[in-house]
Amino acid sequence: MSAPAILVEDLQRHFGPLRAVDGVSFSIDQGRVVGFVGANGAGKTTTMRILATLDYPSAGRASVMGHNVVLYPADIRRLLGWVPDSFGTYENMTVLEYLDFYARALGFRGADRLSRIDDVVAFTDLGPLADRLISKLSKGQSQRLCLGRALIHDPKVLIMDEPAAGLDPRARVELKRLIRILADEGKTILISSHILSELGEMCDTLLFIDKGRIVHHGSADSLTRAEREFTLIGVETSGNPATLFEWALTAPMVSLDEERRSGARLRIDSLKPDVIAGVLRKLVTDGIPVTDFHREERNLEDAFIDMLGRIEKGQQAVSSPPPLPTTPL
Ligand code: ATP
Repeated sequence: MSAPAILVEDLQRHFGPLRAVDGVSFSIDQGRVVGFVGANGAGKTTTMRILATLDYPSAGRASVMGHNVVLYPADIRRLLGWVPDSFGTYENMTVLEYLDFYARALGFRGADRLSRIDDVVAFTDLGPLADRLISKLSKGQSQRLCLGRALIHDPKVLIMDEPAAGLDPRARVELKRLIRILADEGKTILISSHILSELGEMCDTLLFIDKGRIVHHGSADSLTRAEREFTLIGVETSGNPATLFEWALTAPMVSLDEERRSGARLRIDSLKPDVIAGVLRKLVTDGIPVTDFHREERNLEDAFIDMLGRIEKGQQAVSSPPPLPTTPL
């Protein structure tokens, strides 16, 4: 069996008393695209920086393609492309000079170097910008350059920290397309983002981290469908929505999931059709002027917030991470 592309075991990183990464374990098979999700300060960048050999763990182990990141950093750097959330630029360099500089630093020489640069320029569509100063690039263009830089040595594993942050919708679609192509080539990609809906579309699985701990590792579907014991109904009213909100506070089996401008999303604590029908009947017979109601699914954001709520209440996360392989590093 081939080694996992990324294997993290009980990883810890402490900054004084702060446990930024507090016993993180996960395993990512080769060729998978995995989203890394968590609130600000959850520990994503710290974990990724350790994988990229830019920081040391306080305890625990991490490996990329079977190589321990602390013991074999040079091997890791050959195997891994790192796209940081912000990258320092060299004010007076053009796009081409910048890529050439990195290609030389990575040890490419002669025709090989030129061919690697040509490939990444073509892939990231930087040709028309080749002679532009880096300091004059837009956010989306800089992001493509950053990706191009990370791809010069054709790494097997790509780690991207918030690559979609600050991009306009078109640039985000383009970034998603490039990530899909890289995934189809068989690269393993770990990508952090706050935009859960986009990650859900792009990734095979999602890894959720909260306060330095992994709280879920599974598909987006498994999260939105997880152990649901309630039904969500969106209701539109032609009357004052406040009356609907008040109704939801007193009606049995019902709670207010979300207040809306002309209605609400109600949560009915049952999956049984007759209970749902009874609640909707009562809604109408109690005099709420309903103009529309429809069943709604939770989106990823809702599911994530639900899960954090359950964890705060001391209940278990919706799914535990898949078991780690037992093969030694
Ligand atoms: P964001 O989504 O905001 O980028 P994140 O999940 O990437 O957040 P990290 O950057 O990993 O979070 O930070 C985790 C915690 O560790 C935060 O509380 C942060 O302030 C802290 N931290 C990170 N780096 C350091 C450092 N060098 N020194 C002290 N504290 C740090």
